[in-house]
Amino acid sequence: MHGTASNYVIEPLSIPAIPVVGTDKLFPVHRVYCVGRNYAAHAVEMGHDPNKEPPFFFQKNPDNLDTSGAFPYPSASSDVHHEIEMVVALKSGGTDIPVEKALDCVYGYGVGLDMTRRDLQGKAKDMGRPWEVGKAFEASGPCTALVPASTIGHPIQGEIWLDVNGTRRQTGDLNQMIWKVPEMISYLSGLFTLMPGDIIMSGTPSGVAAVNRGDVLKGHVDGVGDIEVRVV
Ligand code: MN
Repeated sequence: MHGTASNYVIEPLSIPAIPVVGTDKLFPVHRVYCVGRNYAAHAVEMGHDPNKEPPFFFQKNPDNLDTSGAFPYPSASSDVHHEIEMVVALKSGGTDIPVEKALDCVYGYGVGLDMTRRDLQGKAKDMGRPWEVGKAFEASGPCTALVPASTIGHPIQGEIWLDVNGTRRQTGDLNQMIWKVPEMISYLSGLFTLMPGDIIMSGTPSGVAAVNRGDVLKGHVDGVGDIEVRVV
């Protein structure tokens, strides 16, 4: 059920949104889906066999996305990791979307970080508990403004990397994704009704590691853009 301004019993919050590059327009965010272990080398570094365990999805909250350029070190953790990812923004959705139609749903792309309380995520994994405390905390999704697919097309290969304080930490290529963007959209649409405003964070290459206050994270996705975030 969706209300109107006249029948909410408290003042509703505004809809979380991401800027669009080169405009004063905003992309309104509905849900944030994140794919886990979508680059084989990252699956291996996390102790998993990508041939036996396919990628899978979890979610962040829409208002966890943050384009401020500052990442406040979160509470309750002493092992917060960076994960550089390409961000996919949907302008349309549906259910059971065929792979060959999936890119029609894409509005554009951005560069994001799936910041992770690795210690809390690890405990959750050990105890068979959900991942929200490790993944879906405040400001856990730093990201750039979006660039429309009408401008850049649909990136399927090209470097994705992250430097911390000028040292390369993560490197990969978009063509190393186990599930490509159209496959992710199609798969998700078999589980959920995808909607305009949905965001997909498409997974991270290997090299994830801890960040500290004061670190400067600079990330890049070929053909999409660059992100710079300071840990505060
Ligand atoms: Mn991730």
